[in-house]
Amino acid sequence: MTRLAALREATAAAGIGALLLTPGPDLRYVTGYEALPLERLTCLVVPAAGEAFMVVPRLELPAAEHSPAARLGVEFVPWDETDDPYALVARRIGPVADVGLADRMWAMQSLRFRDVLPEARQLLAGSVLRDLRMTKSPAEVDALREAGAAIDAVHALVPGLLKAGRTEREVGRDIAEAIVAAGHETVDFVIVASGPNGASPHHELSQRVIQAGDPVVVDIGGRMPSGYCSDSTRTYSVGEPPADFAAYYEILRRAQDAACAAVRPGVSCESVDAAAREVITEAGYGEYFIHRTGHGIGLETHEEPYIVAGNTEPLVPGHAFSVEPGVYLPGRHGARIEDIVVCTPSGAERLNVRPRELVVV
Ligand code: ZN
Ligand code: ZN
Ligand code: ZN
Repeated sequence: MTRLAALREATAAAGIGALLLTPGPDLRYVTGYEALPLERLTCLVVPAAGEAFMVVPRLELPAAEHSPAARLGVEFVPWDETDDPYALVARRIGPVADVGLADRMWAMQSLRFRDVLPEARQLLAGSVLRDLRMTKSPAEVDALREAGAAIDAVHALVPGLLKAGRTEREVGRDIAEAIVAAGHETVDFVIVASGPNGASPHHELSQRVIQAGDPVVVDIGGRMPSGYCSDSTRTYSVGEPPADFAAYYEILRRAQDAACAAVRPGVSCESVDAAAREVITEAGYGEYFIHRTGHGIGLETHEEPYIVAGNTEPLVPGHAFSVEPGVYLPGRHGARIEDIVVCTPSGAERLNVRPRELVVV
């Protein structure tokens, strides 16, 4: 069954009249079409009953016809510059009680849809798409495995790039090049957080000069030609690390292992988070672990399922997500270890396999 057919079934089962998918990850998941997000409306309409069709600006029609969406047999409905594409969608789907809007639809578009479909309650299409997107097929797991190997190859080069006297920005530029050289299509983020900057989980790059004795958090990722993303963190030390850093790094490593070991079908997302948090809290560093343990990954770097307290979603084989506990000491330094894992019938497969022991360079 195609993703489109599965989505139509799920839409009908959810009792939603139609899904409206504008350019973004939902549309890419369903059709493979990487349409540009523009003010001109491109929208795949998936009615619960009836055939899906895609409204496209006339000037985008050649691009749509050359996209994988054409192979799905979806009817393209082009519109001209003076047409109202929103009214066109409303006319074709008729009166519906509920519409599901792509989670990343722009507000200017969702408000126009409200104007032309005033009776329809607006919901997130994600409520229907989440189960489909969250549970990766074997082909999707292969794509994530390939992404994992590519970013591991970059981490293998990092010790050679980290040197006292270089700035974070210089190191980051080299890493960005390596991300592309390793097979990624785009560089999504490069975090090189040295010394005190390591205490800020999303610090990116600065002109700070790396010093001897600095722990350095390196969190990097990109998107492969398959569309699937990589994301992996290792923490390095340039020369011998400070004693208070060495004291918690080993605890962090055990916490990350404990969370990976907790992964198996039926276990809730929140208990994977708890497995990591318990180790860190028991060692007295609980207040310095200031974020959730992980996030799902696929066509987006951050997607469901989130590995966080309160998320009782049970894992099933095919769920793919990061396990990335961290410890952050404000003004001092920080550390994070991050692997992407996939839930398998018997446990977890790590898609990142670089050593997790502290690498002293
Ligand atoms: Zn993050
Ligand atoms: Zn991550
Ligand atoms: Zn990351």
